Amino acid sequence: MCATTRDVKPNFIISLLQSKCTRCRRGNMFQVKNPYRLKTTMRMHDTCPVCGQPLDMEPGFYYGTNMISYALAVLICVVTFFLWWAIIGFSLSDSRFFWWIGINAFLLIALQPPLMRISRTVWLAFFVKYSPNWDKGDIVSRYNVNKEHQNNW
Ligand SMILES: [Zn+2]
Repeated sequence: MCATTRDVKPNFIISLLQSKCTRCRRGNMFQVKNPYRLKTTMRMHDTCPVCGQPLDMEPGFYYGTNMISYALAVLICVVTFFLWWAIIGFSLSDSRFFWWIGINAFLLIALQPPLMRISRTVWLAFFVKYSPNWDKGDIVSRYNVNKEHQNNW
């Protein structure tokens, strides 16, 4: 018997990077795929288009993503610091350190749209785990709903 695409468990990291629903790892969390369309960067589906998992669990649910976003930004700084150190190096006698600061700052700003999306996906993953029975309806229900405050965060 061969496995169908339904039986294959999508990779956790790849589905996080692609901002897939954390329950089925197949449906897109965001309405527009391109994060650099800035007017729609954070516009999310109300429920996962594939499995029906609610994506906004309560008012202000995604407020906690600032901690994830901060951690990811620090991680990028650390990675670029060590890459710069290994490839270009640092010195007190020239401006290589300041070039790293400038390029790192530009990189952090340029990566903001995908980082914000990944932060939301990581945050949702804390509360909604992958379910191998995602098509059989063990949905994690919303904690609280307030339509007026949806997508305000
Ligand atoms: Zn889903």
